[in-house]
Amino acid sequence: MTYPETSAVEVDEKLVAAQEAYQYMKKRSIKDRVKLMQAIAQAIESAGPELVKTAMEESFLPEARLTGEKARTVFQWRSYAAALENGACLAVRIDTAVPDKTPPKPDLRKMMIGLGPVAVFGASNFPFAFSTAGGDTASAIAAGCPVILKAHPGHPRTSTMMADIIARTLMEENWPSGVFSHIYGYSNESGAYLVNHPNVKAVAFTGSYQGGKALFDLANRRPEPIPVFSEMGSINPVFALPNKLNSDPEGAASQYLASLTLGVGQFCTNPGVLIAYQGEALLRFKEALATAISDIAPANMLHQGIAKAFSTNKEKMLAQQGVAVLATAKEVGQEGQGAAIVAQVDADTLLAHDHLLEEVFGPFGLIVACKDRQDLLAVAQKLKGQLTITLTADEGDVTDHVDLVNILQDKCGRLLFNGMPTGVEVCTAMQHGGPFPATTDSRFTSVGSDAIKRFLRPLCFQNWPDRLLPDELKDSNPLGIYRMVNDVLTRDGI
Ligand code: NAP
Repeated sequence: MTYPETSAVEVDEKLVAAQEAYQYMKKRSIKDRVKLMQAIAQAIESAGPELVKTAMEESFLPEARLTGEKARTVFQWRSYAAALENGACLAVRIDTAVPDKTPPKPDLRKMMIGLGPVAVFGASNFPFAFSTAGGDTASAIAAGCPVILKAHPGHPRTSTMMADIIARTLMEENWPSGVFSHIYGYSNESGAYLVNHPNVKAVAFTGSYQGGKALFDLANRRPEPIPVFSEMGSINPVFALPNKLNSDPEGAASQYLASLTLGVGQFCTNPGVLIAYQGEALLRFKEALATAISDIAPANMLHQGIAKAFSTNKEKMLAQQGVAVLATAKEVGQEGQGAAIVAQVDADTLLAHDHLLEEVFGPFGLIVACKDRQDLLAVAQKLKGQLTITLTADEGDVTDHVDLVNILQDKCGRLLFNGMPTGVEVCTAMQHGGPFPATTDSRFTSVGSDAIKRFLRPLCFQNWPDRLLPDELKDSNPLGIYRMVNDVLTRDGI
């Protein structure tokens, strides 16, 4: 089924409704918003098997993966609602007046409020958790911001089903339909129109570097610039340090390969590059990798565009002199499928060619051999901003490489000690973001309830009578939320 592109007139109408809904949301208590979010979570949880079936047809992702992703989506709505209910994301700060101070100190009360309507671009690789009813939508609504969602062209039917679930819930819970609007667009122009619209006050995007950066630039050229939270490419480097690699190179190879090929390599945290010292342990690692990769069956990628980009970007890597294929899956696969492949290169070649550190979205890995510590540190310095960096290491490796760890802290949002980066837990301490170009704003996360903070700004009330203040700031703390009162975190009233 094809859906016609939403016209500019319809987008305008939806954005007028979104602006009205924003004003309406300000008047409702956070308790009502929590109830709405819980109802949306329940409605998604109760959706019948047709939802997963449709997503399977459109994305080629397997049933078990999509069933898990649906549960994750439900959990996101519930946990973000909880962060709103306890006030964690509202960051209330109250400094009561000290009239006899010279000069007198005023009564100051600060809280976070929503920015206004948010344009969300659904991601292709998580049709539930990062698309229509995904984390960006849940966090914007938690922040009190209506959402205008551009359906990802790769899964429009799934997107429509999710949008219908939200629309129905809004009606049942007596909220205006403008709290969530759904549009279809099949060109860069449709997305650009949205980002340029004066009623849009922030943008959330997950996808390619080209798309995310283009939208960021557009937003900054507006007469009124707005924040754009683009989550873009990342190669999620793994540094395999000597003690750990020597102790079990075969185990390290099997763990790396499993993560590299998970979901046909289509995770933003896919570990695309592994860096190690050359030597016996690395040789054994490569041998084990070459043996294990041959049996990995090619599988359909998310959509033809991604499969084509995988093929082109992979060829571009392999065309570079000094880059050699280490091993590939036995089967090459059909059109639209991704077959696992790992290449190898030495640090000197890598350092001389910037494009070797670019993302190849799919099951492509590059093993980088360093002849010495200087090479290792130079590669670390050369890295651009990443979502994650992993150390395959023991504690001795880390104490021997403090200089490396210092460099890596500046390069990523999440630094792992062993394990692999592909699992992204939804919890408050999670950081899913990183220095540019991993994202356009390294101060924020798009996973975990802190994601709500992207769509909030502080507003301070000075010397207001208690009864005229928002409930969040009243002396009695009628909402029972966490507040910093005169520098003490408390849920007590004043
Ligand atoms: P995409 O091409 O970036 O598209 C994502 C969304 O943004 C689509 O709705 C697209 O709509 C819109 N868009 C893209 N460029 C735009 C522009 N210049 N102006 C306005 N709107 C724009 O992402 P994709 O289709 O999901 O995958 C393509 C590539 O993105 C992959 O090969 C991969 O490299 C990367 N990707 C990365 C991640 C990650 O997490 N790092 C996740 C998914 C994909 P239109 O097509 O209608 O313009």
